[in-house]
Amino acid sequence: MPFALTTSDAAAFPLCDGTIFHGCTIPFTITTLDEGRFVEINMAFETAFGWKREELREKTAIEVGLWSNAENRRQFLEQIKRGNGMHPITLAAARRDGILHHYHTFSMQLSHEGRLYLFTAFIDIQDQIDAEKEARDSRNHLLQLYDTMIDGYARVDKHLRIQECNRAFREMLGYTENEILNLTPRDITPSDWHKLDIRIEQEQLFRRGYSDIYEKEQLRKDGSTFPIELQLYRCLDTTGNYDGFWGVIRDISERKRQQADIDYISYHDSLTNLPNRALLLEKLEHALKRAKHLFPNPSSQGAQPEDGYQIALLFIDLDHFKNINDTMGHAVGDTLLQIAAEKMLHILRESDLLARVGGDEFVILLEAPITTIAVAGVAQRILSLFSIPIPLQEKEIYMSVSVGVSLFPKDGDDTESLIKHAELAMFQAKSEGRGVSRFYGAELGAGILERMTIEHDLRGALQRREFVLYYQPQITLATGQLAGVEALLRWIHPKRGLIPPGQFIPIAEDIGIISEIGAWVLQEACRQMAAWREDGFEVPSMAVNISAQQFERSNLIAIVREQLEKYSLPPHTLELEVTESILMHKTEMVIAALEGIKKMGVRLAIDDFGTGYSSLGYLKSLPVQRLKIDTSFIREIGLDNNDEAITRAVIALSASLGLETVAEGVESKEQEKFLRDENCPIVQGFRYAHPLPAEEIQARYASRSS
Ligand code: C2E
Ligand code: MG
Ligand code: MG
Repeated sequence: MPFALTTSDAAAFPLCDGTIFHGCTIPFTITTLDEGRFVEINMAFETAFGWKREELREKTAIEVGLWSNAENRRQFLEQIKRGNGMHPITLAAARRDGILHHYHTFSMQLSHEGRLYLFTAFIDIQDQIDAEKEARDSRNHLLQLYDTMIDGYARVDKHLRIQECNRAFREMLGYTENEILNLTPRDITPSDWHKLDIRIEQEQLFRRGYSDIYEKEQLRKDGSTFPIELQLYRCLDTTGNYDGFWGVIRDISERKRQQADIDYISYHDSLTNLPNRALLLEKLEHALKRAKHLFPNPSSQGAQPEDGYQIALLFIDLDHFKNINDTMGHAVGDTLLQIAAEKMLHILRESDLLARVGGDEFVILLEAPITTIAVAGVAQRILSLFSIPIPLQEKEIYMSVSVGVSLFPKDGDDTESLIKHAELAMFQAKSEGRGVSRFYGAELGAGILERMTIEHDLRGALQRREFVLYYQPQITLATGQLAGVEALLRWIHPKRGLIPPGQFIPIAEDIGIISEIGAWVLQEACRQMAAWREDGFEVPSMAVNISAQQFERSNLIAIVREQLEKYSLPPHTLELEVTESILMHKTEMVIAALEGIKKMGVRLAIDDFGTGYSSLGYLKSLPVQRLKIDTSFIREIGLDNNDEAITRAVIALSASLGLETVAEGVESKEQEKFLRDENCPIVQGFRYAHPLPAEEIQARYASRSS
């Protein structure tokens, strides 16, 4: 059969009617079946594949490269035979410029004049193939990208089977990719995970398409768990139907650990590692909740066994701890606190809580039904712990504690009142001589409350400028002239008015703020001296009372020197009054202070002499210039022969030792006469003047002295 690539030849085929054949927009070819030699192509084929009809004359499809090779064509024919020709077959065929496109091909065998031909139509599906590939590529890229994520990603289908996940997800859970695919969320969640939470999360997922970020425990392949943060998103298929979900998980173990550290720090005391006040409050709050749950109406009789309490609080305060801190240094104080904490922990049960709630204050929380006797037993054991001396730095330190107890529900039904009442009971124990325990109860004295208020108010008094100094004249008996003044501290309380030092100085010493107050007194006394001097009023000496704690602090000398310099005062015009007991404890600090005082030229007086145990001989070795005979001896002049004898002896002996005697508390003419007869050089007392404000001293004595 001749090559029929002409319109007339084409007419030989019934199908190849010129108009239909060439007007059709789908590319066609007619080839011989055996060799694949072109018989005819239409114009659409010319356009689509880039060949001119003449160029294909006498050529086979393989020769022009339509099929990349013979094998390709053989397969093509094979498929045609099998599929009876009318099934579309997807094939890649090359255009004239060599570019391959994918086509859906439809083929038919034709028979004409005893020969077989093949009719093939080509529908270009390259765009579709490209789009699919693009989608596939971008999905792969996405998955690659997911693999670089630190967070874990996984998607499950609507049967809840994991379909894909990233590297982080697999590594966090300890699975390989093969192992993890097709697992369900249940397989990777601890069995105790609450069903309720799952419901909430699913509801959110369906309602708005994503869940909140929430925390849960994640199960690893090895059975261990770790905390994660999780958020889920709903998947929809192309028709908008539910198609599973995907989720992102974040390992938050590190964050949890840091949080736990922070919690630990904010709930524990760094010195003793014990729970602090905040944690105690929280635990007590919980304990109260539990107890109230067990006994909803604690006030009703019979709600609990007689003398059975649900909670006991023991408030423990180390006695005179401030003294130890001041005299032995803070490092020793800290060690003592640690030792005390350890000792107490040692006798407690695992379920008891020991907290450090303040400097030297501890609280024990006992929970469970407990009787008064049992609590008293615990308190007693605590007291006994401290009955033996604590060896520290080659010394033995005697330290006692005072314990106050409050019970729930008897002594309060909230955290605040239980703690407050235990503390009050502790104060009661202190006021009863320390080293004892007391239960909170009706017999708690009003004195305790009084002391607590004073203590509270005292803490801010210095800052609020509530202190003033009064000055009591000291008179030279022989001349009646002003020998000096003693500065005496007064607290002008905004509500209570003037409070004498006897009522607050012991408390200030107890709570460790006397040094601060004492420093102010020194400064104020020096300032006053300087002010008087500037006015031309020369006061020969200013006596300032120094408490033991001040004396034992290393900075006393520095403060004194600083004030003398600041106000340009001659050192001998300043006199420090100390009690015998300070000088009896010759600690290094005391010796250093005495030497410093001597070097500076500041005078030293022994106050309240006769009430301590110091011998006159001993005083000789100290840089002391004055002895102040205590008021209690002067008061008895004319009443008690013994006291008179003592006074007489002290005046005589001190004169022989070169010391000056001051008689304190002189009130009567008789007392004065006795002292004059015994040659007591200096007197001080109401007979001459009460302690007075500075202006009054000046008004009274400035004219006389000049
Ligand atoms: P003190 O140092 O022995 O002071 C003498 C006390 O006797 C003063 O009491 C004074 O008012 C009182 N007094 C004076 N003359 C008479 C009298 O004729 N008859 C009677 N019955 N009493 C008289 P005050 O001012 O209440 O002070 C009491 C104590 O407080 C002082 O005893 C002193 O130990 C202490 N004190 C006062 N001011 C300070 C201070 O600034 N620092 C320190 N650490 N203690 C101070
Ligand atoms: Mg004094
Ligand atoms: Mg005195």
